[in-house]
Amino acid sequence: MKKIAILGSTGSIGTQTLDIVRENQDLEVTGISAGSNIALLESQIREFRPKLAVVWSEEHAKDLAVRVKDCDVEIASGMDGLLKLAAMPESEILVTAIVGMIGIRPTMEAIRAGKDIALANKETLVTAGHIIMPMAEEYGVRILPVDSEHSAIFQSLNGEDPSCIEKILLTASGGPFRGRKREELEQIQVEDALKHPNWSMGQKITIDSATLVNKGLEVMEAKWLFGVDLDRIQVVVHPQSIIHSMVQYVDGAVMAELGTPDMKLPIQYALYYPERRYLGGQRVDFAALGQITFEDPDIETFTGLKLAYRAAREGGLMPTVYNAANERAVSKFLARKIRFLDIPDMIGDCMNHIKVIQSPTIDEILETEQAVYDRIESRW
Ligand code: NAD
Ligand code: MG
Repeated sequence: MKKIAILGSTGSIGTQTLDIVRENQDLEVTGISAGSNIALLESQIREFRPKLAVVWSEEHAKDLAVRVKDCDVEIASGMDGLLKLAAMPESEILVTAIVGMIGIRPTMEAIRAGKDIALANKETLVTAGHIIMPMAEEYGVRILPVDSEHSAIFQSLNGEDPSCIEKILLTASGGPFRGRKREELEQIQVEDALKHPNWSMGQKITIDSATLVNKGLEVMEAKWLFGVDLDRIQVVVHPQSIIHSMVQYVDGAVMAELGTPDMKLPIQYALYYPERRYLGGQRVDFAALGQITFEDPDIETFTGLKLAYRAAREGGLMPTVYNAANERAVSKFLARKIRFLDIPDMIGDCMNHIKVIQSPTIDEILETEQAVYDRIESRW
């Protein structure tokens, strides 16, 4: 039995993780957690029988406890609950399927408790990669990427010497607005931005894919996961999302992982690594596909990607400013309080005005997150 706990079990990655558990007899769920969807959490408790379930607010936790009083499950809430879930003695792997910087502290707690991390929550590495990666090494735990691009890179590195990497080729679908110019993005509505051409995902990452901020976050995630400097990470737009990313080696060979776009593959690969298991679903039919295409990203239109390279290059607290400003901007856009193009503008504004230091501690990262939120609240 492989025992897993899931941070964010009701979301897109969380529910697909549970789909995999459902299809495999040797996976057991020890703990689950959610922001507010207690109806779904209740049905997950009844189906998967975890020992611990965590919901963010105390009020929701009380409601949930009443609903599942016939089940043998402990209910907890808040950050204390998430930390408890992260360090559960019963589990071996923590799947970080929560969205946003709230994932940082539970991820660190799990590492301290010796759990391997199946990492979907990219915001954690983007803002605290300089703390997380050395910590994982110190505690001897593995950070197994769930993000499809990083899983593809991870798979393309199998059996290879990482010092022979010449370049990482990070593929991007280009999102729903690929090919459009800035003027054409002025009137974009929430509904338009939520239509991703190839992947069905949570709302925040879907908006991040439309602005190319997601690709920017993934560049920073790749830098930490694979220890490759920025100049050797190239974003390649590949609208069909069949190649999930590639590694180019010093002899010019390029290794890639291909498949139909389905997050279950990278999730399952992380859960069973280094084993490969059967996974149902559609296979690539190359003849039917006919062709796949590639182009450079348009960073003058999608300035979120350009700003990400700047944030990564300046380092220290700058990726935190970039990420926190984006998190807040996206939630304002989803609430229809700002326009689509305000998202990168807000990020750029915060990057120009928030004081930034190098090698920040977790407290400094969280203080800066708050300073960014305060700035945005006072100006927009
Ligand atoms: P989602 O919005 O669908 O789900 C987020 C989950 O986090 C939900 O279960 C939600 O209840 C939980 N959550 C949110 N706030 C919480 C809180 N305060 N306390 C406890 N739980 C809370 O998001 P998603 O699309 O599944 O993405 C999750 C993470 O995975 C993100 O970091 C995203 O960038 C990354 N990711 C997602 C995909 C994808 O296909 N969806 C692909 C690659 C990476
Ligand atoms: Mg991705």
